[in-house]
Amino acid sequence: MNNAMQQAAPSTIPTVKLLIDGQFVESVSKEWRDVVNPATQEVLARVPFATSDEINAIVASAKTAFKTWRKTPIGVRARIFLKYQQLIRENMQELAALLTAEQGKTLADAEGDIFRGLEVVEHAANIGNLQMGEIANNVANGVDTYTLQQGLGVCAGITPFNFPAMIPLWMFPMAIACGNTFVLKPSEQDPMVTMRLVELALEAGIPPGVLNVVHGGEAIVNAICDHPDIKAISFVGSTKVGTHVYQRATLTGKRVQCMMGAKNHAIVLPDANKEQTLNNIAGAAFGAAGQRCMALPVTVLVGAANDWIPDFIAKAKTLKINGGAEAGTDVGPVISCAARERVESFIVSGIESGAKLELDGRNPDVPGYKDGNFVGPTIFSGVKPGMKIYDLEIFGPVLCIVSVATLDEAIEFINDNPNGNGTAIFTQSGAAARRFQEEIDVGQIGINVPIPVPVPLFSFSGSRASKLGDLGPYGKQVILFYTQTKTITARWFEDGAVTGGVNTTISLK
Ligand code: NAD
Repeated sequence: MNNAMQQAAPSTIPTVKLLIDGQFVESVSKEWRDVVNPATQEVLARVPFATSDEINAIVASAKTAFKTWRKTPIGVRARIFLKYQQLIRENMQELAALLTAEQGKTLADAEGDIFRGLEVVEHAANIGNLQMGEIANNVANGVDTYTLQQGLGVCAGITPFNFPAMIPLWMFPMAIACGNTFVLKPSEQDPMVTMRLVELALEAGIPPGVLNVVHGGEAIVNAICDHPDIKAISFVGSTKVGTHVYQRATLTGKRVQCMMGAKNHAIVLPDANKEQTLNNIAGAAFGAAGQRCMALPVTVLVGAANDWIPDFIAKAKTLKINGGAEAGTDVGPVISCAARERVESFIVSGIESGAKLELDGRNPDVPGYKDGNFVGPTIFSGVKPGMKIYDLEIFGPVLCIVSVATLDEAIEFINDNPNGNGTAIFTQSGAAARRFQEEIDVGQIGINVPIPVPVPLFSFSGSRASKLGDLGPYGKQVILFYTQTKTITARWFEDGAVTGGVNTTISLK
């Protein structure tokens, strides 16, 4: 039990509810945790670690609801998500304020978090065009073959703290639009905006039992992995937990996709547009206090681009560190005191391992927020593999600069890193960009785009150590993830048709 964990829920602080069969229910759990504003340490709410009876009741409700939901017409499903996207738009500012209060990121970035999820809701509203089977006419005499894409049953989603709007919205809208029912397990660190999005989903018309919410940590996640009535799990979070979830849940025959940790590199060639490059890398390295799986915490400077190190430092110094709710803030607090201490310990380790600390963001002065979990932009140069600051995901506003001589060396360097979530190149050379795109072994590539998270016309396609499972969340791939393909081979006899006799072969005649 950590510092923020409590034995029971005192009455003065709001409690985060479970959602079971369309009802928001107070957990009977004796184990609770505080939801804390990372800029002020104010306790905003308490979240329960649900009991095994509660998760069993939730899955039972989702299983029952599937019986009718799976037969719900496409148009009915689509219209719920049309209404849902409208409700999210109408409540954008309230949602963003809630997200900033519990997560820490700036209000503008909180709106971005919601908006990137909203795009998936819009995509779910298009389900009529997405969930279509195929047909081949006359595969044999008078025989047609066609496929149906049908919902799997009860699916579950387990989400991280860093995108408490976008990532839940990657999951339940597409799963439900495909005809499944859903159990969502939000991050226990910031579940409040997720719950508000869930309330709006019910208001949009999602019926009781189709969307359910359980709260908790390791025990509930393990119960989800083991439950025989859950057919598929989408997980987003750290590599350690995601690997555990993948191994445990696939043992019970579930379909599982795990989007996990990262260490994303940007290559800067000397011909790049300098001001654009500095702005883009500073935004991607330090925005959201570095707590994005698609952040750019490593910059590989090629040849003469190494002269730009002072410019990176100058650019980082222009960023304003403040409470996320304050106008003009560029860098808010990290999620918790423990996260701040962890980032600070990485900075110590960077110094000890011989990297050059070019800019030290520890203990910034943030007037009005003396208790906040702030770490300012921090830059190391001379970073090499074998240093902890390079080998591990820091998940804070720390930029590691690596120096190489050529583009080929830079590509080889990135391919030697086990992670494969995202990468970017900054150059004005089409030929260099194309070589990069062809040779780099990373699933999501930006060309002069620092955070190349695809819109839902495509799928999130992280690779290698950043991903387990073949199919990504949202986009075309997720339709296959959340459906089972049935293939039907059919022949209809004309009345009075005579048979060609007994066919003892496997050939269709
Ligand atoms: P986390 O792995 O600590 O938590 C993710 C979920 O797992 C939470 O719901 C949490 O309650 C649960 N959990 C935590 N410990 C557990 C345990 N021991 N057993 C079972 N379940 C457990 O991740 P986080 O700190 O919330 O999020 C940050 C991580 O997520 C980073 O590594 C980041 O790169 C990654 N991330 C990846 C993507 C992606 O798309 N690849 C997107 C966002 C975040």
